[in-house]
Amino acid sequence: MASLTAFEPVIGLEIHAQLRTATKIFCGCSTEFGAAPNTHVCPVCLGLPGALPVLSRRVVELAIRAGLALGCTIHTRSIFARKNYFYPDLPKGYQISQYEHPIATDGQLDYDDDTGSHSVRIRRVHLEEDAGKSLHLGSGASDRHSYLDFNRSGVPLVEIVTHPDLRSPAEAADFFARLRTILLAVGVSDGNMEEGSLRCDANVSVRPFGQSELGVKVEVKNLNSFRFLQRAVEYEIARQTERCLAGDRIVQESRQWDEAAGRTVSMRSKEEAHDYRYFPDPDLPPVDVSEAWIAVVRSRLPELPDARRQRLVQDYGLAPADAGQIAETPSMTRFFEATVAVSGNARAAGNWVTGEVTRRLKHDGRDIDAVGVTPEALGRLLVMIDDGHVSASAAKDVFELMYGTDREAGDVIRAEGLTQIGDVDELHEIVARVLQEHQDAVARFRAGNEGTLRFLVGQVMRATRGRANPKLVNDLLRRELTGAGTV
Ligand code: ADP
Ligand code: MG
Ligand code: ZN
Repeated sequence: MASLTAFEPVIGLEIHAQLRTATKIFCGCSTEFGAAPNTHVCPVCLGLPGALPVLSRRVVELAIRAGLALGCTIHTRSIFARKNYFYPDLPKGYQISQYEHPIATDGQLDYDDDTGSHSVRIRRVHLEEDAGKSLHLGSGASDRHSYLDFNRSGVPLVEIVTHPDLRSPAEAADFFARLRTILLAVGVSDGNMEEGSLRCDANVSVRPFGQSELGVKVEVKNLNSFRFLQRAVEYEIARQTERCLAGDRIVQESRQWDEAAGRTVSMRSKEEAHDYRYFPDPDLPPVDVSEAWIAVVRSRLPELPDARRQRLVQDYGLAPADAGQIAETPSMTRFFEATVAVSGNARAAGNWVTGEVTRRLKHDGRDIDAVGVTPEALGRLLVMIDDGHVSASAAKDVFELMYGTDREAGDVIRAEGLTQIGDVDELHEIVARVLQEHQDAVARFRAGNEGTLRFLVGQVMRATRGRANPKLVNDLLRRELTGAGTV
């Protein structure tokens, strides 16, 4: 299996997101989910002859918002085209989409997580209408007929196409989740994957490591969960790698993920691929968007995770990874900033929010909105650490005792006897005892094993239940051990 690692996976995503509108893209029919079949239809979305589409202004505004949120250039003129193909759920015989002139292009998403820095370029964002839905199973006489529901026909979508910048199944799934968070944050889509509001096609290829040319890609259609995306990509990489190792060629094709079987199956190959014969839709004028409108939409965008992250790095000097973790949600950012406002120590606040606070939230399966400590109370605890009232390690116990109660750090420290021992005489006694009990460690230190000092510091910290001032302990021990006089 070692040779499997000789191939590098390359992944690009095409994501369809339903826009948050009450009505369809080219008519006034409702987009409400779950209505009885064919109750939200009219001549336009049924594609009856002579019915004329009229573009919804709100749809355009949401597409601009999506484009801006993904760092794209918004084009002041974009054009609707007809994508021609025959399928029973497509009553006009073509889908109205954007092709050569999409509304937004050339975006980028940058983010950091514990696996490193990521940068994914967005090739384009374009507007299109959804098709209807074929029901083959479970309705009426479905053993003999297929049924068609046109409620979805004409529902507004944006398609977001990435460059092939993703390199692993986990990275692809994580990116998809981040994109969903962004679309939700800016109110572009409700991101409801069970209702089909968000779905993803994964383009996957492999190539020998070090080769710059891309391999032949396979497109896995219509993945509607992060897990399916990850599993489908994992499967495709393994399948393609195996073929490459066997000296077989990869066939360019569309495949479908079969969750029950845990594999992808072929739908159609490039040879049977459609020629969509795109051409500009003569029924729809170009979409003209003024710079002024773009500016207004931009000014109303909420602060996005990436901007927040940059601000946290710049204003507070946080490490990019910590900043990225905090910037993920507005609530986490507010909590952090309120903690700093009280403690005046951004570094410590960053460490605590990404450390103890996050650990505790994960443990309880909660998010920051249900956190069991106020940022002000945490800020005051951090002040007590900085003042030397409590050691950093004892402060963790204090935090646990405060959490979920109204107790203040100061009260807990006093009541539990967790005040930091900074008194040399008191510490000296404990240090002497520890040295007495660990003669062997002392001998090892004197034989040149410096690392033993850490062990001894740990023993003193333990003897004081973490209350000792570690720096002082360190100094005292070193002096005792090197015989640089007693204190
Ligand atoms: P098509 O014309 O077949 O739709 P595109 O070049 O427009 O192909 O790309 C569609 C999607 O496939 C994009 O998300 C792109 O990043 C991705 N993609 C293109 N080539 C590859 C490749 N060799 N391997 C993986 N993904 C790819
Ligand atoms: Mg495609
Ligand atoms: Zn309609």
